[in-house]
Amino acid sequence: MPTKLGQNFLRDETVLNNIVKAANLSANDFVLEIGPGEGVLTEKLARQAGKVVAVEIDKDLAEKLQNKFKNIKNQNIINADILKINLPKVLEQNNFVNLDYKIVANIPYYITSPIIRLFLETVYLPKEMLLMVQKEVAERICAKVGNLSILAVSVQYYANAELLFFVPKKAFFPVPEVDSAVIKIVLKAKREEKEFTEKFFRVVRAGFSAKRKTLVNNLSSSLRLDKAFVKEILKQIGIYSNQRAQELSIEDWKKLTLKLKMENCLVEK
Ligand code: SAM
Repeated sequence: MPTKLGQNFLRDETVLNNIVKAANLSANDFVLEIGPGEGVLTEKLARQAGKVVAVEIDKDLAEKLQNKFKNIKNQNIINADILKINLPKVLEQNNFVNLDYKIVANIPYYITSPIIRLFLETVYLPKEMLLMVQKEVAERICAKVGNLSILAVSVQYYANAELLFFVPKKAFFPVPEVDSAVIKIVLKAKREEKEFTEKFFRVVRAGFSAKRKTLVNNLSSSLRLDKAFVKEILKQIGIYSNQRAQELSIEDWKKLTLKLKMENCLVEK
């Protein structure tokens, strides 16, 4: 049975130290932690970072941490749901706004995608995210061209993602049903315009719409375009018509979006 709120606590000192090492913190770093739980990671992070703000949904856990850390100046434990909190306001109040803050967290797995998405799209972007996630999800997010899923494209459009190390389930208590991995997501400095991004994801969703179909079939049925026309467009940007969506790189998806935009195929219907 999965635990309520993904409450599997990390009990392995070596894993904890490896996460902190990978975070590569200095006194200039501000860190946001999601789901501090019993505070094992929080404590280590606060020893190395300039400031740690941790957001915990569980009222009892948050109160215990607030008591435990009440004399530690560079820590702030907030009792809230990370997906419902007014994130820009929290970041402003804690002076995270004008610096490249980092996220370091052993996150609750039931909300992995919404958490990552939130921090890839929020107003004040982090510099990087070091996250413990379910092993299979880590592999999907960090996959290379040839195995890209819609999740991988969604992350790799905004960031470079790297799988750092695996963590066995026995490192946690209670022991969860799945193994884990720590991934590093470093946000790209250059962001595309909002309008382009919306079109990009429209094309990506269309390309991935049916798993077994070819890219040509998916694009033509989802975007309501003639198959021969789609084939010709793909050929012009150097993509073979028998390729599948998972074989396209982020650059390929961008080229395809630009081309379809130029051909007026992405006007809202
Ligand atoms: N960081 C601790 C550790 O490494 O032992 C706990 C990690 S545990 C996998 C995930 C934590 O996230 C739990 O403490 C849980 O209560 C908290 N949590 C679950 N959903 C949350 C949410 N929506 N917002 C903030 N915290 C949440």
